[in-house]
Amino acid sequence: MCRHLGYLGPARPVSELLTAGENSLYRQSWAPRDMRGGGTVNADGYGVAWWGREDRLVRHRSATPIWSDPAVEGVLSAATSGAVVAAVRSATVGMPISEAACAPFVDEWWAFSHNGRVPGWPESLVPLASQLDVIDLMTMETPTDSAVLWAAVRARLRVMDPEVAVASVVREVAGAVPGARLNLLLGDGRVLVASAWDHALAVRSTPDAVYVSSEPFDDEPGWEQVPDRHLVVARIGEVTVTEI
Ligand code: GLN
Repeated sequence: MCRHLGYLGPARPVSELLTAGENSLYRQSWAPRDMRGGGTVNADGYGVAWWGREDRLVRHRSATPIWSDPAVEGVLSAATSGAVVAAVRSATVGMPISEAACAPFVDEWWAFSHNGRVPGWPESLVPLASQLDVIDLMTMETPTDSAVLWAAVRARLRVMDPEVAVASVVREVAGAVPGARLNLLLGDGRVLVASAWDHALAVRSTPDAVYVSSEPFDDEPGWEQVPDRHLVVARIGEVTVTEI
């Protein structure tokens, strides 16, 4: 299963968030510690989104493994940000390997990632997709389970708070599709909302920063595992974990 990471804190080079730590996302791409649910490496591409000047969301993705993309040492080391969402991908069998299928998916100031898979896709997601309007469906970037989950969250963000949008999609899909793994991560540059549903998730909060990550990426003290079937809402200095 893919791995993802969200960061809020002092501005840092974007590449540093990808590569820092003994178990960085960079390293998790070939040596993840926890790959329950299938896959051994996360080599089907990666993506990173960050909020830059005037909170403008910028994204870089590649269908190549993160370790072979020169942008990590190039443009991503020149960009700095205090808010980042990043993911490395292990494509679920049957789903395309392409840049468009790599998280984060973005819209306006939102960035979204999904670790996991929905068994029985695409049929199992028809009830969720049938709630979407034609524009939501036509603007889906790629035929994957993650893209349908993102389209549903994105549609709900128009009328719901982010934590309600994420939790309601998780609840509905989990209720309808036994065995769905639904670790979602959503950010807007100021808040991170993340679900732990049948996959690992950890949080680390310091006085000036917060990290939400599939796996702790370093051995710093303060990493806490998020209990399964829980939702994290993280801002700098304020993290809440509630049952979904
Ligand atoms: N099912 C999603 C995809 O194929 C996510 C994969 C994962 O978490 N390994 O993109």
